[in-house]
Amino acid sequence: MPSLFEMDIQKLKGVGEKRKKLFEKLGAPTVGDLLRLYPRAYEDWSLHTPIQETVLNEVAVVKATVLHKPTETRVRGGMTLYKTRVTDGESDMALTFFNNKYIPSMLREGQVYLFRGKVTGTLLRREMLSPEFLPEAKELRIQPVYPATAGLSSRQIGAAVQHALSLLPERIHDPLPDKLREKYHLCTLRYALETIHFPKNQEEITAARFRLAFEEFLVLQLGLLRIKSGRKQENLHPVPGEFPEGFARLLPFQLTGAQRRAITEALEDMAGDSPMNRLIQGDVGSGKTAVAAALCWAVIQNGMQAALMAPTEILAAQHYQSLNALLEPAHIACALLTGSVKQAEKKKIYQALADGRIQLVIGTHALLSEKVEFANLGLVITDEQHRFGVGQRSALAQKGASPHLLVMSATPIPRTLALMVYGDLDISVLDELPPGRQKIETYLIGPAKRDRAFGYVQKHLDQGRQGYLICPLIEEDESGMQSVTQYAALVEKAFPSASVGVLHGRMKPAEKEQVMASFSRGETQLLVSTTVVEVGVDVPNAVIMVIENAERYGLSQLHQLRGRIGRGQHQSTCILITGAQGEETLKRLKLFRDTSDGFKIAEADLKLRGPGDFFGQRQHGLPQLKIADMTTDMEVLRQAQACAKELLAQNALEQPEYKGLRGEIRRLFAKTGGEDVVL
Ligand code: ADP
Ligand code: MG
Repeated sequence: MPSLFEMDIQKLKGVGEKRKKLFEKLGAPTVGDLLRLYPRAYEDWSLHTPIQETVLNEVAVVKATVLHKPTETRVRGGMTLYKTRVTDGESDMALTFFNNKYIPSMLREGQVYLFRGKVTGTLLRREMLSPEFLPEAKELRIQPVYPATAGLSSRQIGAAVQHALSLLPERIHDPLPDKLREKYHLCTLRYALETIHFPKNQEEITAARFRLAFEEFLVLQLGLLRIKSGRKQENLHPVPGEFPEGFARLLPFQLTGAQRRAITEALEDMAGDSPMNRLIQGDVGSGKTAVAAALCWAVIQNGMQAALMAPTEILAAQHYQSLNALLEPAHIACALLTGSVKQAEKKKIYQALADGRIQLVIGTHALLSEKVEFANLGLVITDEQHRFGVGQRSALAQKGASPHLLVMSATPIPRTLALMVYGDLDISVLDELPPGRQKIETYLIGPAKRDRAFGYVQKHLDQGRQGYLICPLIEEDESGMQSVTQYAALVEKAFPSASVGVLHGRMKPAEKEQVMASFSRGETQLLVSTTVVEVGVDVPNAVIMVIENAERYGLSQLHQLRGRIGRGQHQSTCILITGAQGEETLKRLKLFRDTSDGFKIAEADLKLRGPGDFFGQRQHGLPQLKIADMTTDMEVLRQAQACAKELLAQNALEQPEYKGLRGEIRRLFAKTGGEDVVL
């Protein structure tokens, strides 16, 4: 449908300048995008209930006849009410609408309608306030529910979609050719689009969803597999495979068995025929940095350069400090390159990288700058890789001639999904924590016990330890800004003798770094922070963490936060504070309190919140899926994966009948900002 993707949404009836903005907000700037804005649920209007049997305070659909033309009453505050009564033959019900002057002309006396809304009033005198309604004769009983936004209701979106569907040309180009659809029992694109928006029954929804989810997975898989096969396969940077004992001797500790295994696996890759392409998955605190450093060391000993990219300046600076301290005695030249490095300094680094004097560069996205060139880049590492897009991952690699790639992630991913997300990588798992770690004690308390918790924190400060106090995001909204400062004020009052640092996402990188550095040197005892400390920060002397409004976080996020403590020899404690009463919420938090295994937490998180949150775009750097569901559509995924492999093996995508599919791949990956995906 290339033409519809170019057709401005304003071409549709009832869509002007203002609505266009709202549609854009929903991700549908064009008519084509609108057709792919799928309902998030359906309302079944076919199951109506006799008025007498409706349950108070619950939503019901009632089929009833309007008894009289709605009457108009003005009340104080400039409000106008429209009231009428309806009957289903057995009993009556009152309807009230507010400020909608069209009601009298829309609801006609003697006509039958379906009304849907929450039933209020009393058992004897039931009522609905502003119910939705449809003429009884209307055939479509299953109504789509769209992700509405302020100023644009689900109904209005539905109307626009209906118009958009009518604009589909007689013959639309289906990105899935006939023979492929036959093989996998898929309906046509036209049928799928018409049906997903306006189905007649559940079977139709199932058929349409299957086809659309299949297509989506297929496009995603093809994109990922092509990224992988697009890489040159020859190993231009062979590294002899001996274990870097020289590096191990530099460490103040013994490597764990898991660390040694991961290093060995990576070294085998780097000595092999094609470049390494490996993921290291290890729970927080499992010691991924040491593995990365060992591999850098090995590469550098063989005359090549290495680059390590981290998602935040805090993390990059921290990696730089620890790696530089470790590698300097071995005469390895390291540099830190982030956005806040001064221009003159940057120039020096660019030069030294280009002529090979700097052997290891650690940095943020700043490493992706055009000006960064390497003399002989042999290894590229991305830390906390889920924070980067697929495109960025490969962008750094393109600065060398097929360097070895290592990505590290602390988000444990349930095994079934790793295949999908990291289908193009080999995986090592660090399943062993360094010795001497004690289990982190976790408590769940209500706000009434905050004072006691603070007293407990004070006791640790008195013993020379440090702590984190986590309060809700300020990135959320304007008013949230106050919450961090207000909270900091509360904290300063509660800990009059402590030195308190404040860290949040709105601060300039340099400021953040200063706050973090002083915490890391032990000059600040308490760090009040939003989740910016979530990723990778390592201060072993910090042993206590209080998380306010714990209910606001997902389990995986809580796990990441909790991973900031328990990193040294001292017993660590995490206290979750929540005022939430909901049964589900408490169940979730209790599960977290009682579990320390990151993989178990990830699986629970996935089950409880669904992949939308767990695997939101930010988590894995993959394009957002519109309809396919990574947890419940595993069978569709399996078939789409098989299909993708087959198409690539046959080189089928080059054929003209797959032009549409190629376009879909490009479109999907373009939206991630990964414009450098080569297709
Ligand atoms: P993560 O996997 O979360 O990135 P880090 O690499 O930051 O973990 O390591 C966490 C802490 O454990 C660091 O302070 C590091 O020095 C320490 N560490 C790593 N490996 C070992 C080990 N084998 N023995 C003892 N301490 C270790
Ligand atoms: Mg780390």
